[in-house]
Amino acid sequence: MSPPLVERIKAFPAALSKYQHLNAVITDTSLQALARLETGGQAGALSGNLLAIKDNLNLVDQPTTCASRTLEGYISPYTATCVQRLLDAGAAIVAKTNLDEFAMGSSTEYSCFGATRNPFDPDLVPGGSSGGSAVAVATGLVDGALGSDTGGSVRQPAAFCGIHGLKPTYGRVSRYGLVAFASSFDQVSVFGSDTDITAKIYEVIAGHDPLDSTSATEGVKPFAYEEARARNLTIGIAPEYDHEGIEDVIRDRYRALIGFLREEGFIIKDVSLPHTDYGIAAYYILTTAEASSNLARYDGIRYGRRSRGRHDLDSVYTDSRSQGFGPEVQRRIMLGTYVLSAGYMDRYYVRAQRVRRLIQQDFNGAFQDIDVLITPTTPTLPFPIGSRVDDPVTMYLSDVCTVPMSLAGIPAMNIPVGRSSEGLPIGMQLTTRHFGEETIFQLSRFIEQRYSV
Ligand code: GLN
Repeated sequence: MSPPLVERIKAFPAALSKYQHLNAVITDTSLQALARLETGGQAGALSGNLLAIKDNLNLVDQPTTCASRTLEGYISPYTATCVQRLLDAGAAIVAKTNLDEFAMGSSTEYSCFGATRNPFDPDLVPGGSSGGSAVAVATGLVDGALGSDTGGSVRQPAAFCGIHGLKPTYGRVSRYGLVAFASSFDQVSVFGSDTDITAKIYEVIAGHDPLDSTSATEGVKPFAYEEARARNLTIGIAPEYDHEGIEDVIRDRYRALIGFLREEGFIIKDVSLPHTDYGIAAYYILTTAEASSNLARYDGIRYGRRSRGRHDLDSVYTDSRSQGFGPEVQRRIMLGTYVLSAGYMDRYYVRAQRVRRLIQQDFNGAFQDIDVLITPTTPTLPFPIGSRVDDPVTMYLSDVCTVPMSLAGIPAMNIPVGRSSEGLPIGMQLTTRHFGEETIFQLSRFIEQRYSV
C-alpha cells in the first residue's frame, strides 16, 4: 500500500469541494477506494493513480445514474470489465462523473443533476457527453478518467477542456458494464493529462473480454515512444475538414500545426473523404434507431424509478418513461422509433447504413496512402451554457468532426494544441486505421514534446 495514494484519496473530498461549482462529480466513491486499499490494494501498472469514471459505467455497490431520473435508486450489482481492469492494475477510483443523460448530448447540460461547467470559464460548457470526466482530469482532481464515446463524447470534451481524449477502435475495449446508448458505436474511451497516462490507461482496459462478444481478440500493441518512428509517419489532411464551417481560430491553429510538421520534415499528403458531409445525418439516424431499442428496457419495472398513481401496465410504462426521461432522450427515442417504423425503414435506416459503408470506404482508401489523418476536433471553441440546449440541430453539429470516425469504427484522439487569445483550449484530432492506437500515441507524443504555441 503506498501511503501517498492513501493520503490523496483521503484528501479527495476536500479537493472536490473546491471545485463544487463545476459540478463534475455525481458520486464521490473515495470511501470505497480507501476500503479497497486497506484490505490490500493491488500493485500494478496504475498503482498510485486516482481515476474517475463516467456515471454510465457500473462499479459494484455504487449508484449508476446515467444522469437520468429513470435510474433513481439503482445500485450496480457488478463492476464493468474495463473498471475491474483499472482496479486490478492498482488504480483508485474516487468518483463517478456527470454526463448528458444516457450519454446523449455534446455539452453535459442534459443531466438531471444540472450542467457541468468548463474550468477555463464557468459560463461555458465543458463539452459532452463525458464532460464530468473531462473536467475532473482538467482540474487535476484525478490523473485520468474513463468516458464513453459514441460520436465524439470523449474527443470533443477533451478539446474543450485542453486534455487528451482517446476513442479506441470499436471493439477494442469491452462494453460489458457500460450502459448501452448505440451499441454499434459505443466505445469506452480514455481521458488523460498527457500522452503517457492516456496510453497507460488504454493498455490496461484494452483487450478481449468473453463477456462482450463484440470485443476484439487482436493483441494490444504496447506504446514506447520512438522519435524516429514518429518522424516516419505520413500525415494526411483533408479539405473536408478545412473550410468556413470551422471557426477561424481553430482553422488557423490547424494550418499552423500542419505547417510545423511540414517544417519538421514530415510527409504531408492531401486525401479526399467525399462522404464526410453525410456523417451527421447518418449518425443521428443510426444512433437514434439503436437508442430507441436499447432504452426500451427502462419500463419502470426492471430498473430504478416507477411512477406511482395509476396501476394498469400501459400507464405504468408510459408514466414511468415520460417522467423518467429528459427531453433529449425522449426526442431520440421518438426519432429512432420513427426511422425504424414500417414504411420508413428503407428510406432512412437502410440508406444511413449505406452511407456508413461509404464513409468507411473513404477512410480505407485514405489509409492506403497515409498513416495518420489530422483534423480539428471541434468546429468551434467551447460555447456558452444555455446557448444550444433549445436548438438540437446546432447541438448535433458540434460533432461534425468526430462522428465520421465513429461511423467507421476507427481510433481517434484529441490532443491539446494551446489556447485561443481568450485563453480557451484548442484541440486537434489524430485518426488512424483500425487497431492503430499506438501509432496515434507516437505522433501525439512527438507533438507534445516539440510543438509549442
Ligand atoms: N454528441 C453526440 C450525441 O449526442 C455524441 C454522444 C456520445 O458520443 N456519447 O450523440
